Amino acid sequence: MSRTPTQLPGNQEASFNQDNFAGTVMNDEVRKELEAQWQRVCDRLRKEIGDKAFKTWFGEVELGELKAGKLRLYAPTRFVRDWVGRHYGDRVLAYWQAVNTEVKNVEVNLVPPPAPRRANEVIAIPPVPSSSQSYQPPMPRMGPSIGRGTDDLFQAPEARYTFANFVVGKPNEFAYAAARNIAEQDRPLPERNPLYIFGGVGLGKTHLMHAIWHAIRERDPKTRVLYLTAESFVNRFIQALRTKNTNQFKELFRNVDVLMVDDVQFICGKEASQEEFFFTFNSLVEQNKQIVLSSEKPPSELQDIEERMRSRLGSGLVADIHSSTYELRLSILQTKAETARVPVPLQVLEFVAHKISTNIRELEGALNRVVAHGQMLGREITVEMAQDVLHDLLRQADRKVTVDEIQQRVAAHYNIKLAEMSSPRRARSVARPRQVAMYLAKQLTTLSLPQIGKRFGNRDHTTVMHAVRKIEELKISDLSIAEDVELLKRQLQG
Ligand code: ADP
Ligand code: MG
Repeated sequence: MSRTPTQLPGNQEASFNQDNFAGTVMNDEVRKELEAQWQRVCDRLRKEIGDKAFKTWFGEVELGELKAGKLRLYAPTRFVRDWVGRHYGDRVLAYWQAVNTEVKNVEVNLVPPPAPRRANEVIAIPPVPSSSQSYQPPMPRMGPSIGRGTDDLFQAPEARYTFANFVVGKPNEFAYAAARNIAEQDRPLPERNPLYIFGGVGLGKTHLMHAIWHAIRERDPKTRVLYLTAESFVNRFIQALRTKNTNQFKELFRNVDVLMVDDVQFICGKEASQEEFFFTFNSLVEQNKQIVLSSEKPPSELQDIEERMRSRLGSGLVADIHSSTYELRLSILQTKAETARVPVPLQVLEFVAHKISTNIRELEGALNRVVAHGQMLGREITVEMAQDVLHDLLRQADRKVTVDEIQQRVAAHYNIKLAEMSSPRRARSVARPRQVAMYLAKQLTTLSLPQIGKRFGNRDHTTVMHAVRKIEELKISDLSIAEDVELLKRQLQG
């Protein structure tokens, strides 16, 4: 059985099998029959997994429809959808097949948010899976005949990614304000077009874009908002080239009022797509249409990108999301625990906020795990329990080494002053230890060469590169350096 879920931007599907299907109309009779079967499936599930787990995971799962062998269920949240798919997928399918041999596979979707008043006017396009050759997604059209409901691939963004659900703190307040501003304005201001949001993985860029989508739709359901990932843009463009359908592709963008492209760094290095994106971009800006972009990097740090494109991207309002602070993480956890209506002691939230500092996605995942263990196994949620349940994440977090630690250790090891790490002095007695520290910073942290250079007295990234190469060479030719490096590495990681 295939287990490749289709990657949709918001309403992802957890699918136990993935076949294309054509729609069939269900009449009342068939519906009743299907509901009776669902009841029997639920009864068996309840018996097998117990009342408590059944209520937790299937309590709010709704029966969808059966089309050409594919049975759809709807889950209230992404978390439930994923959990049900991962842990109960095989069983749900087997039980369905026991009561209805027509069922060939089962798919869990998110409950769709309420349909917009004029369904065709607000759409989101899911990425085209680039790996599957045989998969032919329908080309999206803006014409009145296509909209949500008539084409299963057209799904609204993630329902819970709203402004109301976005917790604001120092690191994201500017990006949040900028996003709200775009959603609330009547006409785009040239100096704020495009809005370019950048920040590390899992810090809320996609959340903000979907929130803009929802807010615009709420304010004026007639506004045509198009959200897609840059990957989807590229894949669709390549497909249009292959099938000689570029006109249809261009048509897609011609009539939008707001275009949102997520993760634009994906376009880097893809020349033809970049060019097409540039044209699309320019023509929309000329028509005074709002564009919102997100990226993991600021325009100035995008590589393999044409200069004209870079300056275009940065020509409007650039807003960054910084890595999270402890206060923001705690406040996010409190909000999420409240929303989930699960009492989690403050100490546990503080513990998680303190330990999981990588990104918000991991933070959410950690909380979900703690809550799930509490609910499913009936364990009391305590700091010890969280420690136990999250041991793999905590180990990772504990292993993180900072540049400060590296500099301190190395300076102590070679018996030089810590200040020499950033001093301009080039004497071998301080330059070599400094190179060792730079080398270790490259090895043990995720910082880039320029970032490392900055931490060593604002040195250029080429200096860091040189240091890394030098130590690599010396490790082979000079046993004492090799031993120093190994020892320091072990101490730092220990
Ligand atoms: P990115 O697109 O930057 O990689 P996402 O927008 O996908 O990150 O965010 C990752 C997860 O963290 C999402 O589930 C999102 O809802 C959540 N998240 C991020 N920032 C916040 C925030 N400030 N408040 C609430 N949830 C957040
Ligand atoms: Mg994202």
